[in-house]
Amino acid sequence: MEAYKKLLNNNKEWASAQIKEDPEYFARLAKLQSPEILWIGCSDSRVPADRITGTHPGEIFVHRNISNMVVPTDLNLLSVLQFAVEILKVRHVIVCGHQNCGGIAAAMSNKSFGLMDQWVWNIKNVYRIHRDEIDACTSEEEKRSLLTKLNVKEQVMNLAKTSIIQKAWKQRQLPHLHGWVYDVRDGIINPVFEMTAGTEVDPIFEISNI
Ligand SMILES: [Zn+2]
Repeated sequence: MEAYKKLLNNNKEWASAQIKEDPEYFARLAKLQSPEILWIGCSDSRVPADRITGTHPGEIFVHRNISNMVVPTDLNLLSVLQFAVEILKVRHVIVCGHQNCGGIAAAMSNKSFGLMDQWVWNIKNVYRIHRDEIDACTSEEEKRSLLTKLNVKEQVMNLAKTSIIQKAWKQRQLPHLHGWVYDVRDGIINPVFEMTAGTEVDPIFEISNI
């Protein structure tokens, strides 16, 4: 059977199993969503936000792109962030990177991958900021692992640079920002960085008139 057909069959089985367990399940979910968490993760097929966190439909609002980047010109990311923070009023935003990330490996290579080079450029900028620390690692695996962690940290800091987050921090002392790294080798998520609401932002990026 072709892979996509299996998905449709699985879906029917899942939906009927849900109804058997809880007849009101879909009726309830159809009315509204009120997730407390926004997840910004990598598009990698091995890192499904809900599966690895044991969460259910309705619990997390999700945005995924290559290497879980927070790029200030990305209208898609910014729209998701604004909706999650201002309309859904999420309490937490999680940036979750992962070991063995193809985007991280691409940023550390000198190969062209076509159009996506423009996206990888943003990851290379993180590498450039932390070049000394990363290049001091002895193995390539260690270098990639460190860039993965530092990239998550930089993306959390990028969130704090946005007017969306700074405004929310001023108005309702939320959301808290978390940087995590998921290890595809053992399935464990390791927290690596955190900015609780109100944490000082780099003065260069502080917005005084919001
Ligand atoms: Zn990845």
